[in-house]
Amino acid sequence: MEILVVEDEEGIADFLSRGLEAEGYEVTVAGDGIAGERLALSGAGDLVVLDRMLPGRDGIDVLGAIREKRPALPVIMLTAKAEVADRVEGLDLGATDYVTKPFAFEELLARIRSRLREAGDVSQTVLEAGGVRLDLLSREASRGELRVRLPEREANLLAHLLRHAGRVCSREEILAAVWDYDHDPGTNVVQVYVGYLRRKLDLPDDPAPIETVRSVGYRLREP
Ligand code: CA
Repeated sequence: MEILVVEDEEGIADFLSRGLEAEGYEVTVAGDGIAGERLALSGAGDLVVLDRMLPGRDGIDVLGAIREKRPALPVIMLTAKAEVADRVEGLDLGATDYVTKPFAFEELLARIRSRLREAGDVSQTVLEAGGVRLDLLSREASRGELRVRLPEREANLLAHLLRHAGRVCSREEILAAVWDYDHDPGTNVVQVYVGYLRRKLDLPDDPAPIETVRSVGYRLREP
């Protein structure tokens, strides 16, 4: 699971990324609102920890942009202000949760766990991006009129690409996420499975939207 931390105070950002990495999360840090929004909209993160007051672009504006493009993405807002009005403003705009600074790391961690669990329960049974849809329960993939039931490994690979649609997934990352390899076995297994998926998802005159990014990895293209 990847957590995107958007926080301009370096001390807090470091503290959060060290703490979250120690808990086994992958952490990406953005130091201002513009970078944070760009990363979130490009598909980074399974959950966002978003500071309210940010240089470049305010946390509330970033939240609004995330809600338009990735409505199911859990966002936990960090705020130095404890005012009720501020709380309501954030929740109206769709922050999944709110933590007031200063906060205890354990409290934030508990909220992250429960928000990820909820997201996994409801919104993540169907993934959709780039015109491709995958039902994680039935493993049925669809694209236009096309319907195909995928074997488990292919479904997991497609799920990984869909979850990170728009960004390049490296071969190493895919091996770790789909095959549980923590090393590169030096085989072309990813390439072979991407080939299976492409053949199954190709439509006449409309190839599957899975791009090869040379010597890096693969990307599910969004229109
Ligand atoms: Ca701040």
